[in-house]
Amino acid sequence: MGTTEKDLLFCSFCRKDSDAVAKLIGGPGVHICDGCVEVCNKILAGEPRPAFPGWDVLTDDELLRILRPAAATVHSVADILKQHVQTLRQRGITWTQIGKALGVSRQAAWERFS
Ligand SMILES: [Zn+2]
Repeated sequence: MGTTEKDLLFCSFCRKDSDAVAKLIGGPGVHICDGCVEVCNKILAGEPRPAFPGWDVLTDDELLRILRPAAATVHSVADILKQHVQTLRQRGITWTQIGKALGVSRQAAWERFS
């Protein structure tokens, strides 16, 4: 049986998979690795923030390798957003209210999430 997209666990920030990191911490639709937590801790401690080198520093193969995790992050976060909207709908919140909160029309909210 092959690995499905849902089986892939990777850091949503640096895209390293669970085999390449010591720890992977899960949140709603996202994960963060120990290395990225370490960077966060340094930032919180007031140390200079390391500059993001940009995607151009990666080789074609590296960019291709992280494409699937990047797409999976988008899908995962989109699923969380949809659950969020479903919770609001179950509470009786109108599409007009949801659209206003999202900064889109009632129709746009309904078309995207119903
Ligand atoms: Zn990471």
